[in-house]
Amino acid sequence: MKAEDLIPPDFERCQAFPNVARHSFMTLGPMPKPRRCDAAPVWLAVEKVAGRDGLHGSMTVCQSCCELMMESKSMRERVQLQPITGKRSAGT
Ligand SMILES: [Zn+2]
Repeated sequence: MKAEDLIPPDFERCQAFPNVARHSFMTLGPMPKPRRCDAAPVWLAVEKVAGRDGLHGSMTVCQSCCELMMESKSMRERVQLQPITGKRSAGT
């Protein structure tokens, strides 16, 4: 078990790379430079099946990245979406 290898979920910012996701789902050819989404996340996507290390990966995604991700059947089978609750109130 190497928990430090997992990137912890970032509840401040979506962790998807929509330009890469769009690219790999829809086209072939060279991969574009990954550009991380900067929207606020609303879903936590958790792997249903643990990886080889026995750990479940998870990442936060915004609504549009979530929809993009769920266009992929293999992703729908692999991840479970959990709504992010307990939003912090602004201005504190
Ligand atoms: Zn996003």
